[in-house]
Amino acid sequence: MNELIELTAAAAAQRVRAREIDPAELFEAYRARAAADDLNAFTWVAPRAPAGEYPGDAPLAGVPLAVKDLFCTEGVPSQAGSRILEGYRPPYTATVVANLQRAGAPLLGKTNQDEFAMGSSNENSAYGPVLNPWDRARVPGGSSGGSAAAVAAGLAPWAIGTDTGGSIRQPAALCGIVGLKPTYGACSRFGMIAFASSLDQAGPLTRDVTDAALLLAHMVGRDRRDSTSLEFPEAIRVPRAEDLSGIRLGVPEELTGAGGGVEPGVRESFEATLARAEGLGASVEPCRLPHAPHALSAYYLIAPAEASANLARFDGVRYGLREDGEAGLVSMYSQTRSHGFGAEVKRRIMLGTYALSSGYYDAYYGTAQKVRTKIAEDFRTAFERFDFIVTPTSPWTAFALGAKTDDPLAMYLNDFCTVPMPLAGIPAISIPSGLSDGLPVGFQLAGPAFSENRLLDAAHALERAIGFDGSPARRSGESAARG
Ligand code: GLN
Repeated sequence: MNELIELTAAAAAQRVRAREIDPAELFEAYRARAAADDLNAFTWVAPRAPAGEYPGDAPLAGVPLAVKDLFCTEGVPSQAGSRILEGYRPPYTATVVANLQRAGAPLLGKTNQDEFAMGSSNENSAYGPVLNPWDRARVPGGSSGGSAAAVAAGLAPWAIGTDTGGSIRQPAALCGIVGLKPTYGACSRFGMIAFASSLDQAGPLTRDVTDAALLLAHMVGRDRRDSTSLEFPEAIRVPRAEDLSGIRLGVPEELTGAGGGVEPGVRESFEATLARAEGLGASVEPCRLPHAPHALSAYYLIAPAEASANLARFDGVRYGLREDGEAGLVSMYSQTRSHGFGAEVKRRIMLGTYALSSGYYDAYYGTAQKVRTKIAEDFRTAFERFDFIVTPTSPWTAFALGAKTDDPLAMYLNDFCTVPMPLAGIPAISIPSGLSDGLPVGFQLAGPAFSENRLLDAAHALERAIGFDGSPARRSGESAARG
């Protein structure tokens, strides 16, 4: 395999800065692999390296970046996995993408995703499912499945995605890479095609924790075009911790007990990781998150309610697809929306519209918001005694393509352990903790708002102790490179 591909993004950046690697060659090595992608991870690949000077001295040193389709990128298709946005090329670039470009990470390509980020398997994309490089008969997870598969297969050095209920962490877990969902408000949502605005956050999907820190450092910050964005209270540092001495880990029975349906192989890897954490000096104790089992129910009212409002703008007038334009306005609306949206998106619009309708609003949406407050309070109480809450990221490893497509409720259970954190607005990271039957398992750590530096440090110490080897997936990506 091309030795450039074996470098982490941070290592590649360092060698570019030391003038040992030509950034144009690095870009082309990845561009060739991405262009030959046979996982359907990319929906668009840059036709050539960006013109002009390579930002060799910039912090990200010209290391190319894969970007989830729903980030608007000026002049480049930004379709959010939907037919309704087919051919849409925005006139502007999302703030986090612009920030990363300015820091020296050129755009390598746009990655496939579940339509409007609704899904856990990438099978809801209008552009076809993505295959998991560990086993091509299985899903990569979702909704940022293209980003996760691209990084795991070495088709991109690193990528960004979005997480509303788990869409960075769950695909990271299923593909054996690192995924971080930042504190709500840490990254601007400007230019991110919205799913559920009170939950959506951008974050990195990377080969290791150091790469995640490096990328995150250039994503965060207040943006006057997103009034919910905040100045991050400190600089994001490169994590250096090698042990966990004094760190108190809480294991919530509600998410890790029998109720969550955690697979035996995942449980084994989770317990082995807890033992490793203790070996590194952490204390591990059970904790309580009494309302966490209700997180999915609250999420599946709040997220669809917000989605139904956000998706009202796709009416055939302003963006992308327009059908039946001659037959009158109402017919044009309904034809455009019935042909443009997929089944899961329609399901959520109907659920959300119903939950917000007068007479039902208090019973459904209002109650869900109260549950959300309780969940946030549970975490606040837990963090009085614990530094981090830990769980398996996903109850199971990558499942077969098609295994859950006929059963939306079974699909929703993928996010049992990842949905509580975005409801509380807190950050969480997933790191690979090992393999179960040859498939990656994810370990999740969640911390209080703005604890990203401590979270990255803890994840870094654990990552070193675990020593996960992601190279089999990159070798699988090699068949793509040979085309
Ligand atoms: N799988 C969850 C859903 O379908 C979460 C998606 C996400 O985080 N964007 O809504």
